Amino acid sequence: MTQPHSIADPVERERLLRLQICDIGRNLFNKDFIAANDGNISARLSETEILASPTGVSKGYLEPHMLVKVNLDGEIVEAADGYRPSTEVKMHLRVYRECPDMNGVVHAHPPYATAFAIKGEALDKMMMPESVIAMGDIPLAVYGTPSTEEIPDSIMPFLGKKTAVLLESHGALTWGKSVMDAYMNMERLEYTAKLTFLTRMIDGERELPQHRIDELVGLRAFYGF
Ligand SMILES: [Zn+2]
Repeated sequence: MTQPHSIADPVERERLLRLQICDIGRNLFNKDFIAANDGNISARLSETEILASPTGVSKGYLEPHMLVKVNLDGEIVEAADGYRPSTEVKMHLRVYRECPDMNGVVHAHPPYATAFAIKGEALDKMMMPESVIAMGDIPLAVYGTPSTEEIPDSIMPFLGKKTAVLLESHGALTWGKSVMDAYMNMERLEYTAKLTFLTRMIDGERELPQHRIDELVGLRAFYGF
């Protein structure tokens, strides 16, 4: 599938991004990564504007017209009657402002990842090849009150270095070169958390030997990470 971010026509790009954000919302909801009206998704539209999911709506039932257009200062540029951005859009905006090459952000509360976030534990065991190549360790951003600048501030150490973090006692945030990449990173983050949990149930994680980890890190450029 052609990624909307690569389409030059801004009208067509926006139309496809709206559809893709709705599709990702359904996936997050059906995979149990979000409950009720939780979570939020956004995509960069231009250098100055993003498209974001609205607050107070289940992301499993998003429709394209519900999405709101916001500038990088968080001001509403365009929104249908009754829809406004989440106060959590601030952490999305921080990613877009700090990382010009990042075009999508996903926030969710996937249960395994959120369990580790509540425990206050980063996912830093290098256990399987795909995770080492694509993501490496998943750090923990210190707790912040939702809707304040505390969460955006807490992710600052990881911007430009990582594409997935746990938010302490809250959930997870991922970003990527496209909104689909950001969603894939959320899937990988939750899968890593689930594997970590399951391996502990069968007597503990077993990391790859260091020379095997080094080999995999060397393959990142080959796979485009
Ligand atoms: Zn949240």
